[in-house]
Amino acid sequence: MAPLTVKYTEVQSHSGNDGALRGKLRSIALDALGRKTSWFPNAQLRMQPRVQLIYIHHIFQDEIEHFRGLLKHFAEEYTFISYSEAINRIQKDQIDGCYMAFSSDDGFKNNLDAARVLEEFGATACFFLNSKTVGMTNHEEIKAFCQQQLHFPPVEFMNWSEVNDLKRRGHEIGSHTSGHFDVGRMAVTDFVHDLKSTKKKIEMETGTIEHFAFPYGRWNNFSAEALAATTAAGFTSCATAERGCHLPGTYSENPMIFRDHVLAHWPSHHMDYFFEQNVRRAMKHTKQPYP
Ligand SMILES: [Zn+2]
Repeated sequence: MAPLTVKYTEVQSHSGNDGALRGKLRSIALDALGRKTSWFPNAQLRMQPRVQLIYIHHIFQDEIEHFRGLLKHFAEEYTFISYSEAINRIQKDQIDGCYMAFSSDDGFKNNLDAARVLEEFGATACFFLNSKTVGMTNHEEIKAFCQQQLHFPPVEFMNWSEVNDLKRRGHEIGSHTSGHFDVGRMAVTDFVHDLKSTKKKIEMETGTIEHFAFPYGRWNNFSAEALAATTAAGFTSCATAERGCHLPGTYSENPMIFRDHVLAHWPSHHMDYFFEQNVRRAMKHTKQPYP
């Protein structure tokens, strides 16, 4: 039986030559676009008050140092706030500085390392969990779930005691459906049922939760009806995996939460490029359509 994945280099070899080549080409393109300088150069964009949310999935052993380096870079420009404070500032239009908040999806056990590094910077995250995988120990079950739902090699998941420990340390917990479903392909009635039962299960284990994040998170992985259902089920916010930042006054036009995906080994100037694009796009007030 193959062991569970503990290093990011194992994930990279799992994705094969195609994945490695894509990664290299992407990196070359971003080097050119990001000008290899630290932070984006346009002072007006840089000073624009905003909330930038980022999300991760994992911090493997060989990613810890990279993650620390990225946070150090982000901390030079952003004030780190909790996920709930970010949501509150976005929804109440209290965006008076450059804020950053963190979240992590899918509940891998190596999120505990991510939490420890965040804590070094006085930061916390909201961990979006699939209730079905918390405490999953059967190797074959883990392998099948990771492969089918996450398109990932097998990685160990957190258990409820670890989740509760994160809460005690000031982190937050959110729902990511019970089994990492593509809500865009699900009947709304089935989604509503899962939304309620998952909320109940997580709350039974850890106490009240407020936030929801759609698995896969692209526009075609949910709908306006699904968004309305999360509000009806008592969630305060609903997160996508679409890149973007929040400027004063933009939430009322499109009440969704944008988050930028981050891999710990990505160079900081690549992230700066994305963040600069986010500000440019948000300043145009473009409304994202549902499919
Ligand atoms: Zn996910």
